[in-house]
Amino acid sequence: MGVLVVGSVALDSVKTPFGAVENVLGGSASYFSTAASFFTEVSLVGVVGDDFPSQALTLFRDREINIDGLERVPGKTFHWAGEYSYDLNEAITLDTQLNVFEQFRPKLPAAYQDSPYVFLANIDPELQLDVLNQVKHPKFVACDTMNFWIQGKLGALMAVLQRVDLLTINESEARQLAQEPNVVKAARAILQMGPKALIVKRGEYGALMFNGSTMFYAPAYPLEAVYDPTGAGDSFAGGFMGYLANVDDVSEEAMRQAIIMGSTMASFNVESFSLERLRSLSYAEIRDRFRAFKGLVNFADLPETT
Ligand code: AMP
Repeated sequence: MGVLVVGSVALDSVKTPFGAVENVLGGSASYFSTAASFFTEVSLVGVVGDDFPSQALTLFRDREINIDGLERVPGKTFHWAGEYSYDLNEAITLDTQLNVFEQFRPKLPAAYQDSPYVFLANIDPELQLDVLNQVKHPKFVACDTMNFWIQGKLGALMAVLQRVDLLTINESEARQLAQEPNVVKAARAILQMGPKALIVKRGEYGALMFNGSTMFYAPAYPLEAVYDPTGAGDSFAGGFMGYLANVDDVSEEAMRQAIIMGSTMASFNVESFSLERLRSLSYAEIRDRFRAFKGLVNFADLPETT
């Protein structure tokens, strides 16, 4: 089983209290596909400009990600500049330049059209719809979004939400989308907009899943060294969807395991800038941290009282 992803492939400039980088590989689809590639075949849809460094493609090739659907066209690659204060939970966007994404009309290679698992990573919801319209019979469709699109393309975003099984979204953006400060009430309101399940990402405080009437909470792994939270949400989604595609199961139980796998991948990603940590990761490290998560939340039930 494979997963198809459409999203941004970017050159990012990022500043955190621990350092700064300029024009490094980023983008929602880049983080997603690299994380998912540890579990399943990944087909990427996106666009880059002629300024995109060829060596950045080596990562995708090394991870055996299918990039037949990644176009290279004249113009400048999508650029995002962001900054984090000591509170690493929320990115402050300094600049978003859509560049080659402004004119992009994705055309899915034939081999992509039968993908059973589809992730509409954070990008213009009109492009998310475009891609969804070209997939024949997806088994499970998930999407992500952010404040930029909630403010700028709410109508198209609502149309996307009607057609997805799952939405993953940051806590502050869940509040913004639902126009409701309480996260549980906001989740209920968002589930009314279409998705069957919702994962609210809370940065270093973990993730909450609302699936029909059930709730599940996974903590984030407590780390000593967090350098750059950029891409945590997309690495989370990559681990989550990659795992579901690997086991080819979308039951509540599988989704709970998938959340821990997503949290595992996000925890590695924040240990370095750009995709450096995911690039050097091994499956053995992933398995060990997944098990460490189990230890983190495992506790005995109360004794029976008589
Ligand atoms: P996150 O997982 O939420 O930290 O996503 C970080 C990535 O999102 C960065 O690498 C950016 O290039 C990308 N990004 C930021 N803003 C946008 C946007 N408006 N549309 C698509 N991708 C974006």
